[in-house]
Amino acid sequence: MNASNPHLPLSPASPSQAERLFPTLTSAQMARIAARGRRRTIAGGEILVDVGDHDVPFFVVVSGEIQALRPNDDGTEILIVAHGPGQFSGEAIMITGRRAMGRLRVSEPGEVIELEREQLLALIQTDPELSEILMRAFMLRRQELIARDFGDVLVIGSTHCAGTLRVKEFLTRNGHPFHYIDLDRDAEAQALLDQFHVAAADVPVLICRGKSVLRNPTNARIAECLGFNEAIDQTGVSDLVIVGAGPAGLAAAVYGATEGLGVLVLESNSPGGQAGSSSKIENYLGFPNGISGLELTGRAFAQAHKFGAQIMIAKGATQLACDRQPYEVQIGGGSSVRARAVILATGAEYRRPELANLTRFEGAGVYYAAMPMEAQLCVGEDVIVVGGGNSAGQAAVFLAQTAKRVHMLVRGNGLADTMSRYLIRRIEDNPAIELKTRTQIVALEGNGHLERVQWRDDRAGAVETNNFRHVFLMTGAVPNTGWLDGCVALDDKGFIKTGPELSHDDLAAARWPLARPPYLLETSRPGVFAVGDVRGGNVKRVASAVGEGSIAVAFVHQVLQQ
Ligand SMILES: Cc1cc2nc3c(=O)[nH]c(=O)nc-3n(C[C@H](O)[C@H](O)[C@H](O)COP(=O)(O)OP(=O)(O)OC[C@H]3O[C@@H](n4cnc5c(N)ncnc54)[C@H](O)[C@@H]3O)c2cc1C
Repeated sequence: MNASNPHLPLSPASPSQAERLFPTLTSAQMARIAARGRRRTIAGGEILVDVGDHDVPFFVVVSGEIQALRPNDDGTEILIVAHGPGQFSGEAIMITGRRAMGRLRVSEPGEVIELEREQLLALIQTDPELSEILMRAFMLRRQELIARDFGDVLVIGSTHCAGTLRVKEFLTRNGHPFHYIDLDRDAEAQALLDQFHVAAADVPVLICRGKSVLRNPTNARIAECLGFNEAIDQTGVSDLVIVGAGPAGLAAAVYGATEGLGVLVLESNSPGGQAGSSSKIENYLGFPNGISGLELTGRAFAQAHKFGAQIMIAKGATQLACDRQPYEVQIGGGSSVRARAVILATGAEYRRPELANLTRFEGAGVYYAAMPMEAQLCVGEDVIVVGGGNSAGQAAVFLAQTAKRVHMLVRGNGLADTMSRYLIRRIEDNPAIELKTRTQIVALEGNGHLERVQWRDDRAGAVETNNFRHVFLMTGAVPNTGWLDGCVALDDKGFIKTGPELSHDDLAAARWPLARPPYLLETSRPGVFAVGDVRGGNVKRVASAVGEGSIAVAFVHQVLQQ
């Protein structure tokens, strides 16, 4: 088995890791797979899958050998791994239905069992033993591809350019492997710009499968080029459309799909929501050592797909037509999706302080997430974290591992009212973190990248200017409800009112048409629910978002039966 060959790119660290990445199935397991698909012969040199193919089938080798290869632009190929008898092809795309990132070629003729993706999903949903083996291998293989930059995407960018961070973050949060070339550091950058006829001013440049050259592309354009949403059927009426793929939306998707509903999720950016930008979540049940938000929500994303939920990426809801049934959710560009029930799980985002030139520095010194990608940008430097909530506390503790010093700026007198005790203790015990109370930023300065920050001490009223190249803004949450345009009742802060929170007047104004009152988590529109951070009264935690997403599905069932 090639897994033990140290010269192959995907050669695991240990035999047990090899067995998880490239397991050899027993004859009984192979017989169960064969019962779902078809057996066929394969000829030497036959290409079973090529880069960019969609509807990629799944192969189990009965005899002979197939190789997974990455073709290079110059026509050469890199061998990723070879699968012998009892081994199988595929990685995360088998679950998500996205396009192939590599080539699969027969290196020794023989026989395979072939399954279409739908047959594979049915197998995974009904055979727990095979589900565990296959899902684990697919996810581990994707992790290896990411760790080794083995993808179909090349990003050429610069740390001085805000768009670069956005593009890298979008790919990372979508679990898509890419190779990054930095204009300021990598000698090969100019040659690549010349090869693809682009200029340094065009960065970030994304080269998609060696063919399409995208200059500073939007996230939606990247998703389109990589075919993230191609396998999704938008034409029918879904049982349930979920808006937002943070923890609340993903939980609703998993519970909805496992219970037999046709589920379509719309996500305006990347799956994971705010939780996806958390460096380590330590208070979510079942993870005593903590888990990164990216990993937790990445698993939830795979789980939702496994049970058949469809998730559209970089396709936000722009309007809810709530005056007709089925409900219609507009997704921009004149297209829409229809649903018998809707769950609103659009969460919240950090409030942007009113600073004159804030947008100029977003991604170029001003950040709203503290993950390894941002931490890398400020190794050994002084950084500022603004905010007194748990997310700011987590960011400060995380950044203090690699930054020279973390300056925490809060408007109040301390952290006790806004932050969990365990985080306050870590901040107090960490000599690399300095807390500045009753202090706020009043100006940002710099040429291209952030260079200086002015802050005011509210006690003395004095304004100080200091050299800082990195500021993490993690202050107060604003609900993502602007797009609802009066469709559902909101509270005075713009969060969605549900169930018992809805007053008589709210229901009268919405012309609530039913004899029954709204269910728990139901909005002022029958069959439209709100869960997670976007809901008024929610406690703004991953666990409560997941809980609400799961509970709402039970009420969706009741609504669909009525
Ligand atoms: C840095 C950080 C660290 C945190 N750490 C912890 C922690 O340790 N423990 C804890 O319990 N909680 C933590 N939290 C809070 C927790 O992440 C949130 O409570 C949780 O993510 C809320 O989940 P949600 O699904 O309701 O909303 P979000 O996570 O906000 O997800 C909403 C999703 O909806 C999408 N969306 C918005 N508008 C639209 C639209 N119009 N169309 C389609 N999609 C849309 C967004 O892009 C987003 O992906 C942290 C938050 C942050 C920011």
